Formats: sequence, structure tokens, C-alpha cells
Amino acid sequence: MTTSSAYNLSQLEWKSFFKLHNLSENLVPYWTDGLYKNRSLWKEHISPAQIDLIQNHYQLNLPVISKILESNDGTYKFQVRFHDGLEVESVLIPFHKKYTICLSTQVGCAMNCSFCFTGTQGLKRNLEAGEIVGQYLLLKNWLLTKNPNSLLPSIVFMGQGEPLHNFNQVKKAIEIINDPKLIGVGKRQMTLSTVGYLPGMQSLKEIPQINFALSLHSPFDDERQLLIPVNQRYPIDEVLKKFDDLTFLKRQFLTIEYLLIKNFNMTEKHAEALQAKFYNKKIIINLIPFNPFPGTKWERPNLDEIENFKNLLVEKKLRVMVRRTKGDDILAACGQLKINPMVKNL
Ligand code: SF4
Repeated sequence: MTTSSAYNLSQLEWKSFFKLHNLSENLVPYWTDGLYKNRSLWKEHISPAQIDLIQNHYQLNLPVISKILESNDGTYKFQVRFHDGLEVESVLIPFHKKYTICLSTQVGCAMNCSFCFTGTQGLKRNLEAGEIVGQYLLLKNWLLTKNPNSLLPSIVFMGQGEPLHNFNQVKKAIEIINDPKLIGVGKRQMTLSTVGYLPGMQSLKEIPQINFALSLHSPFDDERQLLIPVNQRYPIDEVLKKFDDLTFLKRQFLTIEYLLIKNFNMTEKHAEALQAKFYNKKIIINLIPFNPFPGTKWERPNLDEIENFKNLLVEKKLRVMVRRTKGDDILAACGQLKINPMVKNL
């Protein structure tokens, strides 16, 4: 039985498939409408024999939701299971009557960041484009069932995995999700977050219109590599140079993600170094109070310490905002995603 997902294919690839199998290319829009919107749409145009033929080559099922946790702030964390039994977590985050879906791009992660729960589980495998698209469809469909008037959720590639470590599949997922004939999420509604995995950054120009986020967390290499070990191979200035080489379009941003860790990266010296790197650049610094998880050595600062560091940056004329932590009571906040093997699945 095939395990390759039908959600791996772009419109163009469906056209080639239909041609190769002597099916009329005119059927492709009916086929993809049924696949992405409602399968009852196949009734009039796609015969059961044609569906069988396609099913011999592609798996038509979406991954399954094996567990849902609800936070008391309205965030939902989903455990999503793939055909081989492996699972990732995807998160639905409410924000001013809209929603954002945080997607995973790998099962586990190879980057081993010390502030991140996912990093402690190592890399199990890359996700295919169809598995990334599948997470989006599952959560979007779930949301629409609950609230039919919801707008199409935005996307952050900030779940489990380093997206640029799985560049080709992530790029393809972006193209499929962006295609108005398939799903139609605008590129400005997508943000890809990276720790600065330089080999993957060589290809950033191939996905030119989405927003980017860089997990910086310290302006100093020696300190940053305590948090992000790949910094030893890919130092900060080389990573920033890659973003400098990109041409940013209107309403396109680079966000600098900065975890606030008590007694570690929140001094005047840090604020000065951030000013030296980012003054007058088209960036926003997003301050994220550290989300504790079991076994971590890092601590979360208190509200006064957070406010104090924010003010230091504002005084230095940097654009800055403090991210309100969402879903930390269910370990759905940034850096907290990890499948708990002790949790019983549905
Ligand atoms: S922060 Fe991102 S890149 Fe680092 S270990 Fe966690 S998932 Fe991987």
C-alpha cells in the first residue's frame, strides 16, 4: 500500500499525474476542490474508478488528531499522528478574533537548543510537505467546525523542528498552502522561524515573500551557543548577513526573537549590543519571557525585570514588543512542544 500523501502534490503535479494516466486535465480543479474542500464535490465529476486509480498511487487520508489539550487562554494544542505512528504537536493560537496555527516541520529536532523541550528528544525524521499541509488542514477544519465564521488562520513555522533543516519539503508546503486553488493562505500571513541554520539559509531567496523570524536570544556568540549549539558552526554575524542580503518587500518583516532568561541575557550590555546590530534596521525585537519545562536549568524573569529590559531597548530606539505567553499551562508555548510518551492517546 502506498504511503505517499496526496497532499504532497501541487496543482502542476496533479496535472502531470492526470496526463500520465490518461485522465482529462480538465478534471484537476474538481479533483483538488474535493481533496481540499469537500469530497462530496467529486460525485459529479470524478468516477469511483478514477478515485481508485489515484488511490493506488496516493494516500488520500489526512493525518489524525490523537489528542487535544485546551489552555485556559483559548490556545489548543493538538497531537497529530502520521501513517507510521510518529507524532508531532501543532498549536492553534487565538489572537484578536483571528487564529494562528503553529506547524511542526520535523518529528523532533536535531538542533538541541537548551531552552527547548523539543530539542531534548532528538530528530526522528523530516516531515513531508503533505504532512505539514495535513497539520494545517486538520486544525483549520477543526476550527471551522467549532466556529464556521473564522477567517483562514495565519501560519508560523515555529513548532517542532528547524524548518530550514528540512527546506525542500517546507518550501513545497508553503507553495501548496499559498496556492489559492488549494488553500490560499497569503505569503505575508506566514512566518518561518529559524535558529540560523546556515546551509538552509542559502535558499531563503527561493521563498521570497514570507516573513522570517530569527531566534537570537543573545547578541554574543559565546553566550548564544549555550542556548543554540549550532551557533558554534554558524555565528551570529554570518547569519545576519544572510538576512541583510535579502530584499524585504513592503509589509515583510524580520522578527528577532529574544528569550528573556533571568540572570542571563537582560543587562545594559545586552541592550547596547542589540542596538549596535539592529539600530535603523527593518526589524522588530520580540521579547519572549522564557517558558519553563520539566528539567530545564533556565529561569523565567519577573514582570519588573521584563519591563526594565524592554525599556532599555526602547531608550535605544529599537522597535520592541513583549509577547504574551500563550498556552504555557498545557506546554503549548514556544519551546515547550514535545510528545509526552506517558500521555495516553485517543
Ligand atoms: S528551538 Fe527550534 S531549532 Fe531549537 S531545538 Fe527547539 S525546535 Fe529545534
